[in-house]
Amino acid sequence: MKEVITLGEILVEIMAKKTNQLFIEAGEFLGPYPSGAPAIFINQVAKMKVPASIIGSVGDDDFGKVCLKRLIDNGVNTSLIGVNSELPTGTAFVRYQSNGSRDFIFNIRHSASAAFELTDIAKERLSTCAVLHVMGSSIFSHDVIHMMRAAIEIVKNNGGKISFDPNVRKELLGDSALFAFFKEVLAKTDIFLPSGEELFALTNKQILEDAVESALELGVSEIVLKQGSDGCAFYSHNDYFFMPSFSVEEIDATGAGDTFGATYIACRELGYSPEKSLGLANASGAMAVSHWGPMEGASSEEELNKFIDTFTESLEEI
Ligand code: ATP
Ligand code: MG
Repeated sequence: MKEVITLGEILVEIMAKKTNQLFIEAGEFLGPYPSGAPAIFINQVAKMKVPASIIGSVGDDDFGKVCLKRLIDNGVNTSLIGVNSELPTGTAFVRYQSNGSRDFIFNIRHSASAAFELTDIAKERLSTCAVLHVMGSSIFSHDVIHMMRAAIEIVKNNGGKISFDPNVRKELLGDSALFAFFKEVLAKTDIFLPSGEELFALTNKQILEDAVESALELGVSEIVLKQGSDGCAFYSHNDYFFMPSFSVEEIDATGAGDTFGATYIACRELGYSPEKSLGLANASGAMAVSHWGPMEGASSEEELNKFIDTFTESLEEI
C-alpha cells in the first residue's frame, strides 16, 4: 500500500491546567504533549494502519524525543524527520477560556519545528506516495510556500492525490500572498476538507451551493465540510449527504479537525466508501475532543468501531 505524506511542524504543546488560567502569572501546566497539526494528522493516519510519513524537523532535545517517540510508537515512518542540533523543538503554550476560546504563545517559526527541508529522499518518496496532505496552518513562510509548491508538483506529476485542509482562521486569509497560494493549492486539490468559513473564503462565494459548485469546477472530487459538534457534510459531482456528530462531552477541541481528516483520508485509501469513511472520521473527531491533549484521542479502526457500537447501543437503550 502506498504512503500518505504530509509536511509541516512537529512541536510540543504545554497546556494551562485550569480554565481561565492566565499566562501573566505563575500557574500549573500540563505537558509536554506531542502536537502540531500535521503531526496530529499523520499520527492518526498511522493509527489506521495506513503507511504514513511526515516531512518535518525537531530539535535534538527532550521535546523532540517526546514527539518522535509518539510518532514511532503509533507506526509513523519518521525517516523524513530531520533532527536539528542548532535549534530547540518548537512549543505552543495554550490556555482555555470559559467560552471555549483558546489563547496561544507559539515558538515555531524560529525553532527546529520550522526548519524542515525538501530533501532528495523526501522528493523521491513524494513521487511514489498515494496522497500528499497539505495542512494550511503549516504554510507560515515563503520558504514553505516554495517547498509545498514543489511537493505538490512532484505528487501530481506522478499520479498521486492532494488532500487539503486550510485550517486557518478567516482573518489570516487577508494576507494576499497566503490567499493566492491557498487558491493555487485548491486548484490542485482532489480531496478538500474545509471547516466553517474556509469553504466560502476560498471560493469567494457566499452561498453554500455556489461555493461547492465552484470547488468542484476547479477539479476537487470530494469535499468534506467539517462542522464541529454539528457533524460534517459530503459533496461530490453526483452525491451529497450530511452526517451528524456523536454527542460527547467536549474536554479539549484541539486536534479534532486534524484527527477527523486523517481518518477520512486513511479510510478512503483503505478503499472504504465516503459514507463509511465519514462515519469513522466522525467517531475519531469525537474521540479527539473527549481526550485532554492534542493527539491523545488518536484511535485505531478497532477502537473507533467499538466506540460506534457502544454509542449506538446506548442510544437503543433510551
Ligand atoms: P480544528 O482545526 O480546531 O482542529 P476543525 O474546524 O478543523 O477543528 P471541527 O469541525 O471542529 O474541525 O471538528 C472536526 C470533526 O470532529 C467534526 O466534523 C465532528 O465530526 C468532530 N467533532 C468536533 N467537535 C465535536 C464535538 N464537540 N462533539 C463531537 N464531535 C465533534
Ligand atoms: Mg481545522
